[in-house]
Amino acid sequence: MLRGILSAATGKEIETMNGLEIIDLHVQVEDIEILHSINLTVPAGEVHAIMGPNGTGKSTLAYTLMGHPKYTVTSGDVLLDGKSILNLSAQERSHAGLFLAFQYPVAIPGVTVANFLRTAINAHRKADDADYHGISIPEFRKIMLEKMQLLKMDPKMGGRYLNDGFSGGEKKRVEILQMAMLKPKMAVLDETDSGLDIDALRIVSEGINTLKNENLGILVITHYQRVLNYLKPDVVHVMVDGQIVQSGGPDLALQLEEQGYGWIKA
Ligand code: ADP
Ligand code: MG
Repeated sequence: MLRGILSAATGKEIETMNGLEIIDLHVQVEDIEILHSINLTVPAGEVHAIMGPNGTGKSTLAYTLMGHPKYTVTSGDVLLDGKSILNLSAQERSHAGLFLAFQYPVAIPGVTVANFLRTAINAHRKADDADYHGISIPEFRKIMLEKMQLLKMDPKMGGRYLNDGFSGGEKKRVEILQMAMLKPKMAVLDETDSGLDIDALRIVSEGINTLKNENLGILVITHYQRVLNYLKPDVVHVMVDGQIVQSGGPDLALQLEEQGYGWIKA
């Protein structure tokens, strides 16, 4: 089915719209409108970046997509593979294939990384098949160790309590480990690069790159250009004061790095 939507990356008309469509989205937090008419399409298979200064609403968009109750959509719509997700709970959105890597992952003392991941995988598989009895420990370990290797993580991390006393880099690796294991259709990565030194940035980015495929859309939120050297977005969008003010190719990110955001606001 042709939708009359052009891919910003290829210029071609997108057929059945697999991916994320954000349409005229307005979002309030505590009665204050933070996002004003966001329009954004991330087709499956493409990597899009949102750049913007602090406090412009990037995390607000990420939380809204995931269905955080504090963020109220006052108008507009969000479609995943052509279907609105706004009436779904965060859990249902996750089962539908949406994934959010948090800017500030929370610690859950008492729950190990392995337990957390196993519970998440089982919840996903049960959502697809009510009779599913749960992943076996050997199958789970095999997948987890394989993905940990990809992200150059110490296998011992599996036995530690989730994010409890983790360094910034460890937290971000666990977020991407989760993404690798849950195999989402659309991944929103909120400042996954922040808190990473250059080596960790490269390893995490390479890990993300190995997950890229034609069925996965990725929305990378960042305020630094350097992560984009690795993730090579098809399209870069600039968000200022709760609006997308410009979209373009990867060059736009370089221009922002050199000239800051001042020129774009004017
Ligand atoms: P960014 O991720 O681009 O730095 P945020 O989305 O975190 O920006 O914040 C955008 C604006 O919304 C800020 O003014 C912030 O204070 C406000 N805001 C975001 N989340 C909340 C919240 N949970 N409660 C109150 N204000 C919020
Ligand atoms: Mg943020």
